[in-house]
Amino acid sequence: MAFCSALLNGRFCSSRLSPLISERSLATSHHAAWYKESLEHPEEFWGRLARERLRWMKPFTNVMDCSLKDGHFRWFEGGKLNMSDNCLDRIVEKDPDRLALIWEKDEPGQQEYITYQELKNLTCRVANTLKSQGVKKGDVVAIYMPVSLEAAAVMLACTRIGAVHSVVFAGFSPTALKNRILDASAETVITTDEGVRGGKTIPLKQTVDAAVSDCPCVKRVLVATRTGADVAMKDGRDYKLDELMKGESPECPPEPMDSEDPLFMLYTSGSTGKPKGILHAHAGYMLYSGLTQQYVFDYKVGDIFACVADIGWITGHSHALYGPLINGGTSVLFESLPIYPDPGRYWEMVQRLKVTQIYLAPTSLRLLLKAGDSYVKKYDRSTLRTLGCVGEPLNDEAWRWYHKVVGEERCTVVDTWWQTETGGIMIAPRPSSSDSTPKAGYPMSPFFGIDPVLLDNNGKEITGNDVSGNLCIRNPWPSIARTIYGDHEKFLNTYFTNYPGYYFTGDGAYRDKDGHYKITGRIDDVINVKGHRIGTAEIESALDHDSRVAESAVVGYPHEIFGEGIYAYVILKDGVTDNEDDIKKDLVQLVKSQIGSFAAPQFILITPGLPKTRSGKIMRRILRKISANETEELGDITTLADPSVVETILTKHDSTT
Ligand code: ATP
Ligand code: MG
Repeated sequence: MAFCSALLNGRFCSSRLSPLISERSLATSHHAAWYKESLEHPEEFWGRLARERLRWMKPFTNVMDCSLKDGHFRWFEGGKLNMSDNCLDRIVEKDPDRLALIWEKDEPGQQEYITYQELKNLTCRVANTLKSQGVKKGDVVAIYMPVSLEAAAVMLACTRIGAVHSVVFAGFSPTALKNRILDASAETVITTDEGVRGGKTIPLKQTVDAAVSDCPCVKRVLVATRTGADVAMKDGRDYKLDELMKGESPECPPEPMDSEDPLFMLYTSGSTGKPKGILHAHAGYMLYSGLTQQYVFDYKVGDIFACVADIGWITGHSHALYGPLINGGTSVLFESLPIYPDPGRYWEMVQRLKVTQIYLAPTSLRLLLKAGDSYVKKYDRSTLRTLGCVGEPLNDEAWRWYHKVVGEERCTVVDTWWQTETGGIMIAPRPSSSDSTPKAGYPMSPFFGIDPVLLDNNGKEITGNDVSGNLCIRNPWPSIARTIYGDHEKFLNTYFTNYPGYYFTGDGAYRDKDGHYKITGRIDDVINVKGHRIGTAEIESALDHDSRVAESAVVGYPHEIFGEGIYAYVILKDGVTDNEDDIKKDLVQLVKSQIGSFAAPQFILITPGLPKTRSGKIMRRILRKISANETEELGDITTLADPSVVETILTKHDSTT
């Protein structure tokens, strides 16, 4: 597919962009005033922003009808609007040639550009194709596509006709894909012939074939083209998307959607158990994703925003696609890997595309840190202003490296804490506020409208500062999940039953003496050793202070005397050749000096890798099982990126314990 690539050569320049962000810009002092208003007068606050920031086909009559006790959330009722109308048509009417997306393909330097007008045309043609195929409002469409312009258009096309997309990360196995298709009873699956990542091709259509052979619900499989490979096509079920689109018109009126109509469903990463199919609603998500995009990243129209997360995760939904487009911005879609062709890829891309904000995962940062500074320093990063991070606690060392080496101490690091279920960033520094000099390892401050509380195990609020507890949220916000698809009971039990009247996050947090928040890890990951409760993230941060350590994961295991013992899994940096026993001794000393003797690990296992989810998070529950010698029952490991790592760790564990 040929897209306009003449852009950037003069036709596109930020000075001629009319800003879409309409409300008064926020000076530092306004943040505090807005935050106060958002908690004290939520109806006025959210009502005003929803009217100002979104285009409504029919105005809403009621701002909110929510109950955390009942897990019941309805926002902007009575209103009608459409996601793709807000993301595309609104901008096209004012500035059709504005650059919408830059597709940073696997091959460096081969990026493709698409304007708002072109993206709208493409979206409408896909939308008309879906309609011709019989896809209707409310139907679930499973999308198993790599990051691409077509994938973006397919997602937008679903929202245009009111179909509910369920994007499944295109790295999942046939079984994982099958389970997600069946769970949602999807009749339509959209995929790509092959994916290209790190210079290798990935047989996506083949994976889909294996998955749907066991899915009687699937009526059609539409196949987009990436490599043009000759893939098997089943008669009467499989169709080439390009061919179907040929006769379709680039005009398709956006379906007026009720505010509360389902927008998309998306499965959680599966770090703590079986992934949950989280359902989000139209208006609330739309408002909140645009707002966080603007204020957390200090995002201005004309910026080149690069969220390198895959579209298969909530971060990719909110910050590669919807958040930037809602604000009329320009977003980079990243198809490749952080280490392809070498660990300088992100920074070479920053230089080439003049990226102003980058948003990535701690796992990539730790990987790049391990490779050394020269890959960063080679490239001009002077366009960068905000450095974002999400997914796991960002340990001190990685935070400092990001700030100092990548950002030259000039950029604001925003460690953003949120979840698939929250639909948007909940706790994060705001560069244009008094948070502009964040603390290492701290997401810092709640976003507008978010009231975090720390509760003890009995549900009693822990007040004051310099305290830790279970992180809960006291008030509803527009983009909170509406349900777990097909299992509302589980939705209520997971988030609203443990602490009635609160949203329970499952994470622990520390509030420091200034009232700033630090995430201490999952509540399940808190270790109770010799009567002391300590978050695994804190011990990991201490271990990471040793310059030979690239990454670590700490878990607790049953210990006869201490209650729980501490078991640390450690990956060393490339090229470290020191004696392992000496390193272990040093690490124990390090934790003793950084935290205290009680936190010193009883076991340290040096390993080449860690079990990670496909989104790059450490699956500590597997490490816990290994440490406790419960290796028979490892639980759901379908979201594991590389199962062979488990074998390696098991072998080493068996030989050292
Ligand atoms: P599952 O719910 O299936 O176990 P998951 O929780 O990993 O998977 P996500 O919604 O992708 O699924 O991740 C949200 C979780 O990621 C948070 O609850 C938190 O534990 C962790 N997280 C996200 N951002 C941060 C951050 N900035 N600091 C610390 N932890 C974070
Ligand atoms: Mg979770």
